[in-house]
Amino acid sequence: MPPEFEVFDGHNDVILRLWRGGPEGLEARFAESRDGHLDLARARAGGFVGGFFALFVPDPSPFDDAVLDDPPYDIPLPPPLEADKALRVVIEQASVLHRLDRAGHLRLCRTGAEIEAAIGEGRIAAVMHMEGAEAIDAELAALDALFAMGLRSLGPVWSRPTVFGEGVPFRFPSDGDIGGGLTAAGRRLVARARKLGLVIDTSHLNLRGFHDVAEAGLPVVATHSNAHAIAPSARNLTDDQLRIIGETGGLVGLNFATVFLDPQGRRDPGALTHAPVHLERMIEVAGEDCVGLGSDFDGAPMPDGLTSAADLPNLARTLLDAGFGEELVRRIMGGNWRAFLSRVLR
Ligand code: ZN
Repeated sequence: MPPEFEVFDGHNDVILRLWRGGPEGLEARFAESRDGHLDLARARAGGFVGGFFALFVPDPSPFDDAVLDDPPYDIPLPPPLEADKALRVVIEQASVLHRLDRAGHLRLCRTGAEIEAAIGEGRIAAVMHMEGAEAIDAELAALDALFAMGLRSLGPVWSRPTVFGEGVPFRFPSDGDIGGGLTAAGRRLVARARKLGLVIDTSHLNLRGFHDVAEAGLPVVATHSNAHAIAPSARNLTDDQLRIIGETGGLVGLNFATVFLDPQGRRDPGALTHAPVHLERMIEVAGEDCVGLGSDFDGAPMPDGLTSAADLPNLARTLLDAGFGEELVRRIMGGNWRAFLSRVLR
């Protein structure tokens, strides 16, 4: 039996995983891989029909993630990246996405209409997202070329400073009120993104930056963040932020990472039980049109029962068992993202 619900997802890092393995044979590694969380075979098995595919420049010296097992924690922000190096990585990772498109494994989509057409043809619909805008200079000279390459969603920061603003560190417990708002260049970036029709993603951005994006008149989007009232991580959103997402007609995607689901901030493999609790809060505050998924597949520790895209029907079942209606589950699993992108990517 095919999966009951079509999933459109707000965030995955499969491009990073494929890029790390080098260009050789990456199409075959996406078709079916023995590691990671997302590939074509498991996407098909789980009803994953599309999502945001992130380009992400990894930190040269990542932190020891063992600290995540012992909250409270406060991991310092990594230093800024060099723009030239970041741009090179972004170009290489965009090539990965274009190669998968050429191989017919997915379709790189630039508009809501292209997303629906790709899904209608049975192809995975991929939206190119950039998580952290290190590859773009303060004058935005590279932005239009990236847009022409297919970029349609942009996070001004990952959890490290850029010329555009500051992100939140992995800190638990904490709110996101850490550091200053968008810089002058950050405000230029958001204004230009608005003109081009790019989605601006506030996941990873600090609280002041979040408000700066909201004030720019864009629908406020957080592709992969949870409810701070349930799990007080710096990466999760307060009720006030969720309310703004609802009021601006934006969207927030539930992050499956155990550390953001667990109310104690731990890598608890049993964290899937908290998913309906987060969603209830997110729906109560932002509204049921404004909530979707943002898996963080291939970028974060996954809970038991949701260890790959093939397990997505388990999430739907968990929500149905928790009393969510079938129509609401359909919208959470992907309907809301698709309606939103049909409106904003034109
Ligand atoms: Zn992220």
